[in-house]
Amino acid sequence: MNEKYDVIIVGSGPAGLGTAFYLAENTGIRVLIIDRSSLSSGGLRNDCKQNYTYPVGFPEELWGREEANKMLKVVEAYLEPECASLKNMDIYRKRADKTGVSLLSVRQAHVGTDRAVGLINRLMKRLISMGVHTCLGNEVTGVDYRNRRLILDNGVRDYGFTSLVLAPGRSGFKWLQKCMNELGVNYLDNIVDIGVRIEAREENYPIVSDCYDPKFIFPDGVRTFCTNSGAARVVQEKYEGYYSVNGHSFSHEIESSGLVNFAMLKTIRLTDPVVSGNQFADILGQMAMKLSGGQPMMQRIGDFRMGRRSKLETFNKDLYDFKPTLAGATPGDVSLAIPSKIMRHLWKSLKMLDTIVPGILHPSTIIYYPEIKTYANRPEFTDHYFMVKDGIYMIGDGAGTSRGITAAWSSGIRAAMGICSRHGLL
Ligand SMILES: Cc1cc2nc3c(=O)[nH]c(=O)nc-3n(C[C@H](O)[C@H](O)[C@H](O)COP(=O)(O)OP(=O)(O)OC[C@H]3O[C@@H](n4cnc5c(N)ncnc54)[C@H](O)[C@@H]3O)c2cc1C
Repeated sequence: MNEKYDVIIVGSGPAGLGTAFYLAENTGIRVLIIDRSSLSSGGLRNDCKQNYTYPVGFPEELWGREEANKMLKVVEAYLEPECASLKNMDIYRKRADKTGVSLLSVRQAHVGTDRAVGLINRLMKRLISMGVHTCLGNEVTGVDYRNRRLILDNGVRDYGFTSLVLAPGRSGFKWLQKCMNELGVNYLDNIVDIGVRIEAREENYPIVSDCYDPKFIFPDGVRTFCTNSGAARVVQEKYEGYYSVNGHSFSHEIESSGLVNFAMLKTIRLTDPVVSGNQFADILGQMAMKLSGGQPMMQRIGDFRMGRRSKLETFNKDLYDFKPTLAGATPGDVSLAIPSKIMRHLWKSLKMLDTIVPGILHPSTIIYYPEIKTYANRPEFTDHYFMVKDGIYMIGDGAGTSRGITAAWSSGIRAAMGICSRHGLL
């Protein structure tokens, strides 16, 4: 065995960092943080919008307002956000109320993909200066629970641990599921968000100049999510068997594209006999790929309204007056691919949004599909601190304890508190 640590953390995303900073600040124990990437690869790295208002990002089944607010203060002290001011919210909220929609007021800071690297490097440097060991660019491939050993790169090296914190994020959720199976930990996987990403001219969604990321909650479990403007882009992410669209934006230092993008998502809670949100996501994602030649599909609102598919030769003509930022998407007919109940609820919500912020349903606006958010397999925890077995903790988005940067960091703090209380460290 190479070396032994009191605590090993897998994943240097916000959840792993939350645990590492808390332990470094409050104890003198030996801590190692491992990441397969040389730079934290989740939301800290991409766009990095930080939300400081409960319950955004916090699954309410696991987090109360009081505890979350305490945690958010700690997170804020590390991330030092420059929160944007909100303007004219009363006007939008009155319109929303009349339509039966809620508009949240969220304290938020946006770092931007280009500036996020600097933030991550600063955090890692600070952590190292506090005595935490790091092992970056090495993948954890297995865990020998009986001998409390962590195996890296298929046996190239291994480390011993007393406590283990697994925080591999959404990209590591299948690996985390394997760990749960090996440990005999039960888990729940019944929630999935299915939706579309909307891209429009900024002048057709002017609310973004008053509020960077407006969060509207519509009836039927639909909400807006992850709004980007300025130097904003729609991107695609690879999953097993399909691409999901997403969006991000660079900081205000990069020239604006004049476009805005955001997701409209519907949350689906599955019940017996179909209980796996991930399975449902795979089926829908794969069907979308089959209908659009292996790429996400896109349709102009003008075509959608008339019930006809968008075509490559007409996609950028006349009223269809801007080029999509996700150029590889296939013009098509999203209503062929989206289950009708989901489509109905998304369209109803878009019409409500157009009443609150008139313009978003301009014929040029693009609907991209699919945007799918799977919500991990949430394990059965044995205590409040996200422990699943004797000294083994599972946290962050991969374990369903968070859905965003600040909540992920908070879940890391909670696990660290659990380790401290278990070993009488405070
Ligand atoms: C494109 C994109 C943009 C996003 N933008 C935002 C945003 O603006 N604001 C927001 O609040 N949330 C955003 N999110 C969500 C955000 O990523 C998560 O909520 C948050 O990062 C979760 O933190 P985490 O620590 O659980 O996981 P992550 O941040 O995903 O970190 C997990 C880390 O574990 C590492 N890892 C995984 N498996 C292994 C392994 N086997 N061995 C070693 N290392 C491993 C990964 O490399 C990764 O660095 C975004 C997500 C994506 C994909």
